[in-house]
Formats: sequence, C-alpha cells, structure tokens
Amino acid sequence: MRPSVRPALGSVIDAGLSPSISDASLRNHPLAIWVETRLGVVWSDVDQRWVRARPLTVTEAVAALSEDSDRATDVCRSALRNLLLISALPEAERTGSAQANVRSFFAFKLHQFISGAGHAFSTLEVQGRRTVTVEGQQFLPGDPEKRLYPTHFCRDCGHEYHPVRFALDDKGLRVFFARDIDDAAPIRPDDDDEDAGDDEDNADDREIFGFLTPHASDAAFTFDDREEDYPETWIEFDAAGNPRLKRHYRGARARSVMVSPTGKVGSGTRAWFLPGKFRFCLRCGAAQGGAARDRNRLASLSAEGRSSATTVLVGSALRWMHGSNSGLSPFTRKLLGFTDNRQDAALQSGHFNDFLFVSLIRAGFLGALEIAGAKGLRSEELGSSQQKALGFDRPSPELRAEWLLEPELRGFNLQEAESTLRQVLSYRVWFDQRRGWRYTNPNLEQLGLVEVDYLGLDDLSADQTLFADAPPVLRDASPQVRAAVYRELLDHLRKWMAIRSQVLDATVIEQCWRSRTAAFAFHGDSGLMRSLAEPDGS
Ligand SMILES: [Zn+2]
Repeated sequence: MRPSVRPALGSVIDAGLSPSISDASLRNHPLAIWVETRLGVVWSDVDQRWVRARPLTVTEAVAALSEDSDRATDVCRSALRNLLLISALPEAERTGSAQANVRSFFAFKLHQFISGAGHAFSTLEVQGRRTVTVEGQQFLPGDPEKRLYPTHFCRDCGHEYHPVRFALDDKGLRVFFARDIDDAAPIRPDDDDEDAGDDEDNADDREIFGFLTPHASDAAFTFDDREEDYPETWIEFDAAGNPRLKRHYRGARARSVMVSPTGKVGSGTRAWFLPGKFRFCLRCGAAQGGAARDRNRLASLSAEGRSSATTVLVGSALRWMHGSNSGLSPFTRKLLGFTDNRQDAALQSGHFNDFLFVSLIRAGFLGALEIAGAKGLRSEELGSSQQKALGFDRPSPELRAEWLLEPELRGFNLQEAESTLRQVLSYRVWFDQRRGWRYTNPNLEQLGLVEVDYLGLDDLSADQTLFADAPPVLRDASPQVRAAVYRELLDHLRKWMAIRSQVLDATVIEQCWRSRTAAFAFHGDSGLMRSLAEPDGS
C-alpha cells in the first residue's frame, strides 16, 4: 500500500495546478491520488479489491478535503474544482501534444442529481406575516408552536388551499392538522360528487377531511358564504323563490373559522374550511366536477412530473450545446440518457416528442399572429398563415422533410399535401383550446398570449330589433351585458369543442388521417385523432 498523501495535500493545494499538466504528473499528484482513493474507489477488505466509493456531494467532498489537508473549505473547493475541470480534459487537449493521450484522466464522472421542487408549506397566518417554505415539516423550525401546512393552488386564479384534517387533539380540542392531499377520509366515502355529504354532521368528535383557505383581505376576494357565492349548480329555490343550497351540497358548505398558527380554532386568522373534496374556488368560482383527484384539481409548486422536468432540462442542455458559446465540436454535441426501464424510456421519448410538437405548433400560431398584427387572424386564415409562419410553404427540401413523408412530391400531389397540412394546422389550433387539456402545459389563451373574439358579436348585441321577441331578461339587458353573456357562452362551447369548422368535420379528419403524405398530420396523438374521427369515438 502507498504511503498516505495527506501530509502533502496542503502544499499542493497552496501551489495550485498547472492547466497543461501531463497524465504522468497527474498520476503522482497528491490531490489526484486523494480524489481517486477518496471519491472514486475504496479498498474493500471483505472483497479484497477496489470497489466504487459511496457518492458524495461536492460539499461533503470539500469538507473531507479540508480536514485531510488542513486548509480552509473555500480554498479546498476551488482546488477540487480546478483538479476536476483540468483532469476532465484529455491530455492531448491539456498539453497540445499530438502523442498525448486522447482520453480523460479519471474513469469516473461528476454526477448532478436533480430533484423536483416539492411542495410549498405555509403557516396559518396572514399574508405577509406567514412563513412560506419548501422544507416539509410538521412544525415551523424555531417556533414549534406553529404548524406548517402543505399549500396547493387554484389552477385558474392561484388562490391557496391547505389540505387538512379537522380532528381532536390529545387534549380534546378541535385542531386543523395538516394532511397529504392524497389522504382520504378513512371510514365513510362522503366526498363523492354524487353524494356530497348531505348531513350537517355535527358529531363533534368526527374527524373531517377538507381544505382550509385564508380569507383574503383584497377587494377581489368577495366570498362570504352567501348562496350566490356558490356554483350555480349547487343552488335550488324554495317555495318562496329564495335561493338555497341543494340538500346534496349542504355538507360541503364553507365554514367560517378563526384559526391560530397552532391550528386551534377560536382566535387568530380568518379562514374558510371546505369539508370534503375540493369542489370550487372561493376566489374565482372555478368549479370542479368529474372524477379528477384533488391533486389534479389543484396545482402545487411543482405541478410537472419527472418527464416534464427531464424534457425541459434536456432541451436546455441541447440548446446550450448547440449555441455559439458552447465550445464543443459539432461531433461531440450529444446527450445520452440512461434508464433501467423500457416503459420509462418510451414514456420519456414520447413526452419529449410531444413537447417539441406542441411547442412548435404554438410557436407557429404565435408567429402567425405576430405577422397578422393588430387585425388578428380569422378562423379561415389559421391554416395558411401558420404554414407561412413555420416556413412550411418554402420549397427547400430540408423544410419539406420536416412535414412531408415524401419531400420529393410534386405537382398535384404536393398541392394536396399542402392543403392537408393547412387543415391539420388549423385543426391543432382549435384542439389546443380545449378545456383542461394540458395541466402542466397551459395553452396560449390561458397564458394570456392569445385572445379569442367573435366577429360581429357587439353589433348583434346592440341590434334591438333582434331582441324584440326575446325573453325579457335578454330583451331588457344592455348591449354590453348581452355581449358579455354571449361571449361567456361561446367561450364555453369553444373550449368544449362544440364548434363547427370545416377542419373539425369527421370526414375531413378521416381524410387527413388517411393522407399519409403529411408526416405532420397526426404526429403526437394519432389515437385521439382517430377517436375524434370515428362517429362513436369519445
Ligand atoms: Zn380560483
């Protein structure tokens, strides 16, 4: 066994490392030996051989080096960094010598582990005074009286909701306990939308699952537990014509509470407790139906999964790699991914392709709108303007290969393919406006980048003669109110795809699907397209 390099570490750290050091010198360099035998491999007495060392973070490695070398951590950090950066280059690049080794010095690589942002947690105090952290713990460090609650957000307006359990503590007091959003009430499934807990349930010791949300003090937050504050579908009218909550929803009625940072009820911050599943947002009124889980009804800090994160990181690495400042030769601009699972690999590559496709389509649409300027685009112009914005009208073979299976098509066949392409591009614009379509990748309208309006709507609403025979509520309304009502209705129909457009016609979709000339046609979600094209498709 070699003598320890420890006594020599301090002086070589002080001396620094030459960027043109040879492999032969590195082999005898105390710091390189230390890195190899502390970070790279360790001797296993059991196996009587060198085995891979347990991975360390850079900070742990720096602390170990500081202890072994008796030098300050910042000095050790830069020495370690220099050594790893210099030795990562092949000797040939370090020394510029043609006879030198062309492989990097060490056999191991630096790894970076990237994990999601996790959840946000917050104390139950007023905005501005509460503590918000991403460190999930039961109590606030340094103030163990205060509880921390996981925080989720309305997907439409961002108002915050804490999943809680309202239960007795060990002293028999009612307390809001934090819970995971996926935890459901243990015994009675009283939270189905079919049966929203129609009992008032005043059994004081029963544990109630639900959501707690602060009563915001800004003027836009108007919820005050009046009947009209609830979704329309929750309301019925009694014999006297007064609105009231349907029996079915009474158990889900919001309860006004004063809650302290300890979770105890009675004093503190004003908040609302919503028993059961998350059903609607007190701030914006967005109502949630269907069978979605609460986790999907509400957003959290990192709404995206690992696939989205990987796609974005890979995309950013590729962009950097192909940028003018990367310093990498075109030949080495490659990125390898490893996975231990074939399904994961398929999912990830599918996700990546889909992400690129959606980004490209949306970029094409935005580009087309930019060219159109203030007058915008009419629905019948969607296809051709996007074709131009994407450059897919140009005769270059490389561009044609982007969307054509057979880039050499000519004449009539090419015209047919272009016509299909325009239909598909136009179809995609409509398709992308669907409600609840992509949670983690909201569409251009949701992002406020695109506005949809209806031609002639204001004129129609202002034309009194058209409303002469209309129901009084419409006849007597002002043109502005009528226009607002129609806009709401048309938006709703549009987002649920209840629209008539040539490109949404089942026969046209079917034709596009059959047309194998346009590679672009059904890339991404061919299954969906087919099901839309089939009369009995869902
Ligand atoms: Zn909301």
